[in-house]
Amino acid sequence: MTPANDATKVRAGIIATALGMNSAGINRGKSGNVSARADGGFLITPSGLPYEETQPADIVHVAVDGRASGTRAPSSEWRFHRDIYAARPEVSAIVHTHAPFATTLACLDRGIPPFHYMVAAAGGKDIRCAPYATFGTQELSDHAVCALDGRKACLLAHHGMIALGASTKAALALAIEVETLAEMYWRTLQVAEPALLSDEEMTRVLQRFATYGQADAANG
Ligand code: 13P
Ligand code: ZN
Repeated sequence: MTPANDATKVRAGIIATALGMNSAGINRGKSGNVSARADGGFLITPSGLPYEETQPADIVHVAVDGRASGTRAPSSEWRFHRDIYAARPEVSAIVHTHAPFATTLACLDRGIPPFHYMVAAAGGKDIRCAPYATFGTQELSDHAVCALDGRKACLLAHHGMIALGASTKAALALAIEVETLAEMYWRTLQVAEPALLSDEEMTRVLQRFATYGQADAANG
């Protein structure tokens, strides 16, 4: 495959992932954004353009210094995408959504504690909620990078969630998992505050996750 075809494939994959957020029910309308690491920076969805109307040529390249090239303006959240790629060399794709249940918890300034062992799928013993800051700002980016420390997902207070992965497929799968956990946690809270798994149990779960599943799966 020529480099040009390869880049078009990555752009098409970003659009398919953005459409996938909506078809999976973890995003509605033109909220959220998707990016994938690319030569010298990353490729990202354009700002405010409905995903159904987005073509590969509309995807914007943003360099590590923040310079955008393309025919469209990049997502207003390009700063947190840039800063996450800089802070996390193992991350190759980022999905940001306004998933209904995750955002409901985030509107209460609540993260997701270890009420269920699958919380460990996000890489740690809880899923943090980053403090609120205005969308598109450096302040929001700083909060997000901090909340993602040692994690592959976080909530954003009064806003939504971010999921990271070794591929767009993995980042989308994790975003769906986080939304599933958020829904289960929210439902549990309707009955009572659930008991939480202990620190020792979550250590055990994280150890088991290190070797869980298929060794060759791109589940980063
Ligand atoms: P963009 O359309 O600029 O990516 O904004 C959507 C969003 O979710 C902002 O936080
Ligand atoms: Zn958003």
